[in-house]
Amino acid sequence: MMLYLVEHFYSIQGEGKFIGTPSIFFRFGGCNLKCPSFGEYFIKGTKIFGCDSVRAVNRKLFEEEWQEIQKSETLITILQEHLENLDFKPHIVLTGGEPLLYWRDETFYGFVEYLIAQGFIVTIETNATIEIDFANFPAYKDVIFALAVKLSNSGEPYEKRVNKRAIDAIINNTAYSFFKFTLNRGIIEMRAYEEIVDIVGEYPEVEVFCMPQGDRVEILRKNDKVVAEFCMIYGFIYSDRLQVRLWNREKMR
Ligand code: SF4
Repeated sequence: MMLYLVEHFYSIQGEGKFIGTPSIFFRFGGCNLKCPSFGEYFIKGTKIFGCDSVRAVNRKLFEEEWQEIQKSETLITILQEHLENLDFKPHIVLTGGEPLLYWRDETFYGFVEYLIAQGFIVTIETNATIEIDFANFPAYKDVIFALAVKLSNSGEPYEKRVNKRAIDAIINNTAYSFFKFTLNRGIIEMRAYEEIVDIVGEYPEVEVFCMPQGDRVEILRKNDKVVAEFCMIYGFIYSDRLQVRLWNREKMR
């Protein structure tokens, strides 16, 4: 499978455990899910449903932004360009789409190995549906996984969005991974707590972040307080989406 990079940029992490941390983002193309209930967009005259990082999922519409990456050195060169003016090590975030589509790709894994060897703090943002072989790909043991497991408000069926073996492998092989759920008012009123407990219940030591659904400030405001109150009731950690608050939908990150 060819490795596709959709965009790379230096920003601050907007969500989860490292919210606010200066980070270089690499967004890879392709996803095994569609999340049809996650939004509605008009792009290039076409109405598209789903996914809040649609440019990383829809290759047809964003073809000119999808760059084929043939070797790890290309990614390392991009990284070095971002690092040129910095005299500290920012975090590195590998995101998508679903970056773990490429977990055994030589180029992708070579890049992860390089980052770990250089001492970077690396987060992979994943929907946690793809099982990794940590024994044969040990660099992943030093990665932090943001387990953004999808709930029913994504519009995906349970069998597609929850893979407990994949989640278990990540939690048992890494030290600092965490859960990150996207919630809206509707799912909180219905069954969010039960759905979250079904996924995190066996891992009391793993932090659980909940953030409001919405890729625009107006939508975020409809969900944020109810998510905060939900966190206060059940002991989860509220995460905002700083990239939306600060830059709204400007770059659709
Ligand atoms: S899992 Fe994430 S990247 Fe994939 S379709 Fe859903 S929201 Fe988009």
